[in-house]
Amino acid sequence: MNLRDYYDVLGVERNADEQTLKGAYRKMALKFHPDRNPGNKDAEERFKEAAEAYSVLSDPQKRASYDRYGHQGLSGSAGGPGFDPSVFSDFSDILGDLFGFGDMFGMGRGRNRQPQRGEDLRYDLAISFEDSVRGTGIEIQIPRQELCTRCSGSGAEPKDGLTMCPTCRGRGEVVFQQAFLSIRRSCSQCGGRGQLIRRPCTNCRGEGHLSSERKLKVTVPAGVDTGTRLKLTGEGNPGPPGTRPGDLYVVVRVKDHPVFKRHESDLHCLIPVNIAQAALGAEVDLLTFDGLQRVKVPEGTQSGDVIRLRGLGVPFLNGGGRGDVHVHVEVRIPSRITREQRRLLEQLRELLPAENEPEEKGLLEKFREFFL
Ligand SMILES: [Zn+2]
Ligand SMILES: [Zn+2]
Repeated sequence: MNLRDYYDVLGVERNADEQTLKGAYRKMALKFHPDRNPGNKDAEERFKEAAEAYSVLSDPQKRASYDRYGHQGLSGSAGGPGFDPSVFSDFSDILGDLFGFGDMFGMGRGRNRQPQRGEDLRYDLAISFEDSVRGTGIEIQIPRQELCTRCSGSGAEPKDGLTMCPTCRGRGEVVFQQAFLSIRRSCSQCGGRGQLIRRPCTNCRGEGHLSSERKLKVTVPAGVDTGTRLKLTGEGNPGPPGTRPGDLYVVVRVKDHPVFKRHESDLHCLIPVNIAQAALGAEVDLLTFDGLQRVKVPEGTQSGDVIRLRGLGVPFLNGGGRGDVHVHVEVRIPSRITREQRRLLEQLRELLPAENEPEEKGLLEKFREFFL
């Protein structure tokens, strides 16, 4: 590879000062900028060469080394053989984004003139508690934009509807000249598309898309909860031609259940028992999401005791297992009793030990349960 002398490349004397270097580089950069020389490989090479020369000569250390040893003095640095596009990032103070180096050399500065994809949509879906536990498939109808099939989204009649934008000559960008700087802007006449609609599409009247109601089947997996977002890739609005459509997010809201409350993957419910059932034990039928379950209330159950039915709760969303059902037992004292019941209770009162001592130890234990 034959490397030209950097001073020759920029066309300056060997004792050129910083201002002279900068001015010379700007002149070269403007002259050989790829934007102004589309498809011209030679101009691109000259442009890179000038950038490389400037990156070396504008750095006092590199310049001193180059002056003494020539190209050999620079191996391993930005001035070494070959072109390193990252040297351009050093120039942001001089030319920076005005030229859009990022785009040209794929350095990705995120200069989005047009959206790269369609708009995301949101759909709020209310489902029953049962469906959230068991999972379901629901058909929904969403209003959204559909790409016009006649013009494929361009908005122009298929055969001869488009014409090249005269302002930017199809480039989609306009270069403004300001003193020695050139500034690229997205063309305002064509919106950066480079083409103008001569004859609007008869189907969409030039919009490129049509409003429609679309029916979609949403698979709701077992275990979803209020706030769960289900993503339907590509079911959002269409983007500009050639880009991918947005996504549809179905946001779940689970309706309340008359019996069960959910806490994470566990279900909680309350069953009342009377004093006799609590004292003697009982069997109570509970309708769960797995059908009727016989719940054994053991002898001597206290109000607030919890009976756990393992694995009958809500399935974990990511698969593998389920939560439990927690049955909270509440002992109800009858508020109205018959004469017969009164007689029996009075008998019972005589037989039962009176436990009217303040329950210090019991309380202490409850506290322990809470805090330890
Ligand atoms: Zn159309
Ligand atoms: Zn234009």
